[in-house]
Amino acid sequence: MTRDFDIIVIGGGHAGAEAAFAASHLGAKTALVTLDPNRIAQMSCNPAIGGLAKGQIVREIDALGGLMAIATDNTAIQFRMLNRSKGPAVWGPRAQADKYKYAIEVQRILSTCPNLTILQGEAVEIHATPETPNPKPETRRISAITLADGTRLSCRAVIVTTGTFLRGLMHTGEQKTEGGRFADPPLAPSPPPSPI
Ligand SMILES: Cc1cc2nc3c(=O)[nH]c(=O)nc-3n(C[C@H](O)[C@H](O)[C@H](O)COP(=O)(O)OP(=O)(O)OC[C@H]3O[C@@H](n4cnc5c(N)ncnc54)[C@H](O)[C@@H]3O)c2cc1C
Repeated sequence: MTRDFDIIVIGGGHAGAEAAFAASHLGAKTALVTLDPNRIAQMSCNPAIGGLAKGQIVREIDALGGLMAIATDNTAIQFRMLNRSKGPAVWGPRAQADKYKYAIEVQRILSTCPNLTILQGEAVEIHATPETPNPKPETRRISAITLADGTRLSCRAVIVTTGTFLRGLMHTGEQKTEGGRFADPPLAPSPPPSPI
C-alpha cells in the first residue's frame, strides 16, 4: 500500500467526502482516512439535505462540481422549498433523502474517483517539519499523519473534517453517557501539529 499522498483528508463525514472528491478531481493523490469506511457520509437522525441557509450552500457546492447534490438527486424521496409563504430572502430548498441509500451513493461515487484511496483508521497525530533550505520553526509544513495503529502516512497537506460529535456527552434524564454518533466512540478533537 502506498503511504505517500499529496493530500490527506481526516474524517469521512459530509465535509470529508466533499473534500476528498474535490482534491482527487483536481489531480491530487488523495487519501481519505476515516474510522469506518462503511459509514462514510452517514446521515444524522433527520436525513435532510438543505434547509434554511444550508440549501444555498448545497447549491453552491453543486455549482462548484461537488457530490452532495448529485447524491441527493439520486436518493431523494422529497423536495420542498421551505418558507414559501414568506419573502424569497428566507426561502430554503430542502430535500429529504433515503438515509441509507444516500451514504451508499456517496461511497459509490467516491469509489469511482481517480487518485483517491480510502483508508480505515483513526488519525492521532499530525506532523510538521521545517521547510528547507533555512529551516525555521515558523515555516514548518505539514508532512505526515500517524494513525492509532502506528502507521505513518506522508503528505503535503491535511484537511481535518472530524465533525461535530467530538467529546460528545449524551444526556438521558439524569444519566450522562460519553459517546459520538450512534455506535461511535467519544472522539477527542484532532491534536495540533506535533513538534518536529
Ligand atoms: C446530536 C446531533 C444531531 C444532529 N442531527 C442532525 C439532523 O437530524 N439532520 C441534519 O441534517 N444534521 C444534524 N446534525 C448536524 C450534522 O450531523 C452535521 O452538520 C454533519 O454531520 C457535519 O458533517 P461533518 O462532515 O463535518 O462531520 P461528521 O458527519 O460528524 O463526520 C466526521 C467524520 O470524521 C470521523 N473522525 C472523527 N475523528 C477522526 C479521526 N481522528 N480519525 C479518523 N476519522 C475521524 C468520524 O468517525 C466521522 O466519520 C446533528 C448534529 C449533532 C451533534
